[in-house]
Amino acid sequence: MKIAKNSVVTIDYTLTDDNGHVIDSSEGQEPLTYLHGAGNIIPGLENTLEGKNTGDAVKVSVPPADGYGEWDEKKITQVSKKQFTGIEKLEVGMEFTVEGDKHDMYVTVTKIEGDKVTVDANYPLAGKTLNFDVTVKNVRAATPDEISHGHIHGPGGHH
Ligand code: ZN
Repeated sequence: MKIAKNSVVTIDYTLTDDNGHVIDSSEGQEPLTYLHGAGNIIPGLENTLEGKNTGDAVKVSVPPADGYGEWDEKKITQVSKKQFTGIEKLEVGMEFTVEGDKHDMYVTVTKIEGDKVTVDANYPLAGKTLNFDVTVKNVRAATPDEISHGHIHGPGGHH
């Protein structure tokens, strides 16, 4: 069957950046199974897979706007080192979850200068073009439960 809204789709994928570095891959792991049309995967990939069949191989370059968004300078902030109490040795590259206005944010330490620590709350893949190499392994219809929950059940699923 063709991939359409409320299909449960299983894919093998490899994701590379513009330099050909592998960012993520299902190779050597379980393939990815998701509910199509529910926003479970990035829009650029979801739109490309629409109408495809089991066995189809697809390559697509997804610009940031259809991926994880543009890199946002406003998400770079400076905080005092005092806010990292209990961290024995603060280093560039460390990742922390901090309380945000609406939901928790994931930040990465990008610079440390004296008492000032620069943190970046951009999603690590923000601003990047994502090159997907995808093979459709299986397509089935979602169950009414899956549709109402907005995610898949069963192997690789939520419950
Ligand atoms: Zn559920």
